[in-house]
Amino acid sequence: MKARIGLEIHVQLTSLKTKLFCRCSADYRGAPPNTHVCPVCLGLPGALPVVNRKAVEHAIAVCLALNGEVADELVFERKHYFYPDLPKNYQITQYSKPICRGGYVEIEVRGRAKRVRIRRINLEEDPGRLVYPTGSPLTSPYSLVDYNRSGVALLEIVTEPDMEEPEEAAAFLEKLRSILEHLGVCDCGLEGAMRVDANVSVEGGERVEVKNIGSVSEVERALRYEIVRQASLLRQGGRVRRETRHWDPARKVTVPARAKEYEEDYRYMPDPNLPPVPIPAELVEKIRAQLPELPDERVKRLVSEYGIDRRTARVLVYTAKALADFFEDVVRLYPRDPQRTANYIVNDLLGWLKDEDLKPLYTRVRPEHVAKVMRMLDEGLISIRQAKELAEHIVKHGADPADLVEKLGMRRIADEERLRRVVEEVFRENPKAVRDALRKPKAVNFLVGMVMRKTRGQADPQLTRRLVEEMLEAVREGRLSLP
Ligand code: ADP
Ligand code: MG
Ligand code: ZN
Repeated sequence: MKARIGLEIHVQLTSLKTKLFCRCSADYRGAPPNTHVCPVCLGLPGALPVVNRKAVEHAIAVCLALNGEVADELVFERKHYFYPDLPKNYQITQYSKPICRGGYVEIEVRGRAKRVRIRRINLEEDPGRLVYPTGSPLTSPYSLVDYNRSGVALLEIVTEPDMEEPEEAAAFLEKLRSILEHLGVCDCGLEGAMRVDANVSVEGGERVEVKNIGSVSEVERALRYEIVRQASLLRQGGRVRRETRHWDPARKVTVPARAKEYEEDYRYMPDPNLPPVPIPAELVEKIRAQLPELPDERVKRLVSEYGIDRRTARVLVYTAKALADFFEDVVRLYPRDPQRTANYIVNDLLGWLKDEDLKPLYTRVRPEHVAKVMRMLDEGLISIRQAKELAEHIVKHGADPADLVEKLGMRRIADEERLRRVVEEVFRENPKAVRDALRKPKAVNFLVGMVMRKTRGQADPQLTRRLVEEMLEAVREGRLSLP
């Protein structure tokens, strides 16, 4: 089933210390309600907005990183609607001249590359937040408003409807998130830092907008649901009309939004308090020159610098900047075999980290710990299977792998002298097996097995086999006699 998908992504500029038009702290998460507010972000009469220069610079950087064209002036407009989260009854946003027009992002799904075009990027203020005492508007007897978020700098990134399946939308969002993280403008893992409205239509129907989805995997799920719903409606002879719906993550369905809520008569007008300001070309060029390494370049560098395969490099970079940083930190500590390190991070550690929350990677798992696992592997202290087993403990409990190996009784006996004594013991206790092994190479396995059993599986199997063979040779040559 072919679909058309276009996304509108709201991204908070979380690295800014203050809001878009006032000096209130933008670091509002976890703060008591209505403590990060002032006359400007509460919309009190007479209060005057002043643009946060850093927010403009961040918006320009995002525009350039997405290959867009930066506007020659900064123009703000008022968008009117009536909802308690908006204290002024209008939102300061952009309309006639967004800060960025055009641009594109390259994505790749199942080995097929394609471009998703960006239509525009608006710089705007975030509204406040409605808080429902029971957690749901349906069951709460009243709602509360928290204006701490009101006025936080937001980018609205609008794509063309260039995506054809939910996987492409997910690939686009992952790539976008990684670009924003590499630019250092958005810590997209923070609750509510990236919110998506997904527009989707199927052939023969109009587009439906699914509002306010909170994560990449939820966007994918919502789109999959919506495409099936629209297609089956059409198949049954129904019609798909243009409407706005909400994604219910608990029930995993989309539900119609009340039409009144989104009456689209915004009465846009220029904001007389914020006259247009020219954006100097020199400023744009200065920001372009200072753009950091972006995801595509980083993938190429990981491949050439460490010799890892492209697929793994892409997983590291596009899952989260933190994951790629983590990989490079481990390799800096232990440079041997970066491919194996990358595989371990992607295949073993990542599996134990919850969907989209990569915080534990840096708060619990330390690069030194993973470097230690790699070293123990090379020293033959642990097997590959044991390294995989350690991954779970390392992620869940942040434990030092060296301690874990002791605690879990994993330490391998790689000490040659110690192991040689065990082999001698086995030889003395099993003279018949030794005589068998001298004639039949297959019977050597029995002796190796006995050594493993005596050491409760902790002997290094390769070393054990070598010592057994050496000792058989000594018996054969008469250098060692048996009872
Ligand atoms: P409006 O201006 O009314 O908000 P737009 O045409 O600007 O509508 O589109 C808003 C979003 O909807 C964009 O992300 C766009 O890509 C997407 N979109 C437009 N047409 C379609 C369509 N037929 N199917 C899916 N998405 C669409
Ligand atoms: Mg919009
Ligand atoms: Zn304020």
